[in-house]
Amino acid sequence: MATTQHSSALNPDIGATVLGYPRIGPRRELKKALESYWSGHTGTDELEATAAALRRSTWETLYANGLDSVPGNTFSFYDQVLDTAQLFDAVPERYRGLSTLGSYFAMARGRPGLSPLELTKWFDTNYHYLVPELSPDTRFRLATAKPLAEYREARELGITTRPVLPGPLTFLLLAKPAADSPAGFRTLDLLDGLLDVYAELLELLAAEGVAWVQFDEPAFVADRTPEELRALGSAYTRLCALPSRPSLLVAGYFGRLGDALGVLAGTGVEGLAVDLVSDERALAELTAERRLRDKTVVAGLVDGRNVWRTDLRAAVRTAACLLGSVRDLGVSTSCSLLHVPYDLDAERGLDPVVRQRLAFAAQKVTEVVTIARALREGTGAVAGELARADQARGLAGRRDDQVRARLSALRPEHRRRPGYARRAAAQRDRLRLPALTTTTIGSFPQTSEVRAARAGLRAGRIDEAGYTAAMRAEIERVVRLQEDIGLDVLVHGEPERNDMVQYFAERLDGFAATEHGWVQSYGSRCVRPPILHGDVSRARPITVGWSTYAQSLTDRPVKAMLTGPVTMLAWSFVRTDQPLAETADQVALALRDEVADLERAGLRIVQVDEPALRELLPPRQERQQEYVDWGVAAFRLATAGVADATQIHTHLCYSEFGDVIAAIDALDADVTSLEAARSTMEVLHDLAAAGFSRAVGPGVYDIHSPRVPDRDEIRAALAAAVAALPAERLWVNPDCGLKTRRYPEIEPALRALVEAAHAARQDSAPPSLR
Ligand code: GLN
Ligand code: ZN
Repeated sequence: MATTQHSSALNPDIGATVLGYPRIGPRRELKKALESYWSGHTGTDELEATAAALRRSTWETLYANGLDSVPGNTFSFYDQVLDTAQLFDAVPERYRGLSTLGSYFAMARGRPGLSPLELTKWFDTNYHYLVPELSPDTRFRLATAKPLAEYREARELGITTRPVLPGPLTFLLLAKPAADSPAGFRTLDLLDGLLDVYAELLELLAAEGVAWVQFDEPAFVADRTPEELRALGSAYTRLCALPSRPSLLVAGYFGRLGDALGVLAGTGVEGLAVDLVSDERALAELTAERRLRDKTVVAGLVDGRNVWRTDLRAAVRTAACLLGSVRDLGVSTSCSLLHVPYDLDAERGLDPVVRQRLAFAAQKVTEVVTIARALREGTGAVAGELARADQARGLAGRRDDQVRARLSALRPEHRRRPGYARRAAAQRDRLRLPALTTTTIGSFPQTSEVRAARAGLRAGRIDEAGYTAAMRAEIERVVRLQEDIGLDVLVHGEPERNDMVQYFAERLDGFAATEHGWVQSYGSRCVRPPILHGDVSRARPITVGWSTYAQSLTDRPVKAMLTGPVTMLAWSFVRTDQPLAETADQVALALRDEVADLERAGLRIVQVDEPALRELLPPRQERQQEYVDWGVAAFRLATAGVADATQIHTHLCYSEFGDVIAAIDALDADVTSLEAARSTMEVLHDLAAAGFSRAVGPGVYDIHSPRVPDRDEIRAALAAAVAALPAERLWVNPDCGLKTRRYPEIEPALRALVEAAHAARQDSAPPSLR
């Protein structure tokens, strides 16, 4: 058998590495330590001890598993962007005057009377970071020694690490101007001052003996302005000119670097870490850049954010192909492993065939090491590993010929066709709803009784019948409460759902669930994404029983609740062996059957939630249309089976939807509810300006806060809404589900909402009817 060998190919310092690692702990140790600390049960010492133990076990595991370069500073109590804000003293005035940890957690979580920093999505992942607030008065200085301290801590254990930090440009681009900043201020205006402290930090690290530092600049896999690209170039040129500094590895991930690649290649940075997984164009871009001949390229060959085993043979080929274009190589993951669970070995219940196809963080480290070894010693040295990978990749996922036949028989008429005017008329006749119809987004507070019943069923303390009875009792309570409050369109409250994606994934074929596959979402919050591993289909109705029960209790219309195909994919680990469009259509067909069953059972309104529609939007415009096309097509496939008189709703969880407004329009839902409470109706003006012609429910109160709005406040919001759109096309609802709130908060809020809607109806009725 031929074996290829590239002995001088690998950079001796970097070799095999990963860009980052999970930090919540294999058994969510950090989550537990944080929550115990926050509740006052334990003190700083216990928290610090847990943190140190987690750091230690990460370094030791990575080292023992064969990485040549172990990333450092990847631990965080809450979020790495927040760590960086605190490191550089970018701490807004209102959080000062506390201990270091006190001000850190105040920014992360708020305190009584003090709201936290804004939390938002980390690029197109399901991780959330805290948004630093900067103003012209921000004075950066080195305020903590975290990267240095962790470097020393690892060295004490005999492990040399490569400190990882957000790069200066990405840090500024992720930050936002503080509310009181003068108009025209941009966070990038602070670059010079920020570079002073980055320079100071680099000098300190060099004095400590640090050989390499990794600066993450994922902001540059999105389209950036020429000015931003110039700033990138001049920033790194300046840092490279420092007389004493570690070698710099700049990492761009979640896409291809595009123009930023040339910019960075033109600076003196020693290394670039690139993502060769998420965009197939990345490789050609690299081989075309001649200036990489003097650089180390750390090739992200192992997918850092999905759970499938790597095609090792193909990865080695890709690396070999790069070799001619670069000085030397490192082998790595495409991004930090923060986005995947720790260890497949912890899973006992997975189907063995599915399991063989998977790799979690620990397994991915081994893959990286194997690829590096193949490059060092030739593929013959890892023949066994390659053969096992081939064999695992040869395993087929669940195949469902019926679904495949249905998919290939799809015709354009199976997707929702335009016809809103006709549908709206049919729905008016059937539903007879007032203008400014009041409703909610679906979930009601998950009480401890509801959670106890779910846990009891899992643990076998109560049987299926007992569980059903408990849920029915809860549904009845929620229906009666809504009637009493006077809402027009009711919901069943979703008590049976732990999570809007997990619930459906557990009931659809083609998905698997893990036991310990937790991934950090933000702070101590973790999610366990389902694994979509094969053809998806629905064996039996999922929600029909609960929704029909709710409808049987009342004459008012009950709105049934489903999770849409894009969101099902966005919050799962999804198979990569077929186009996403096909996978989305399979999910859509399952939902379509559910919608049809709901309609047949007498439900007159069905809501298909797509809160993740915007989050999956690719960072570069060149790929956005393709995404929007399949996402919209899947939604329209899921919702097209119904009669004109059955009303389709959707719900979206954000208010800045400028870049997906055409997609929202294309979903063609009869009613779209949106988060809007915090952006004071800007949403409506945007919708009106975009010519959106169907009904909208702008959230009139913010459920993300425990604050209870009063009637006048909601009336003011409604007055603004009515000024932007005709009352007949407006619905009145909170801005998201009520699941995370408590009854003492939501009950008065919903009463205020109904009163405000009644008052607004009076105001907006034609004068003769007032
Ligand atoms: N129907 C869901 C709920 O109310 C929607 C949740 C969401 O928007 N994320 O909980
Ligand atoms: Zn929402």
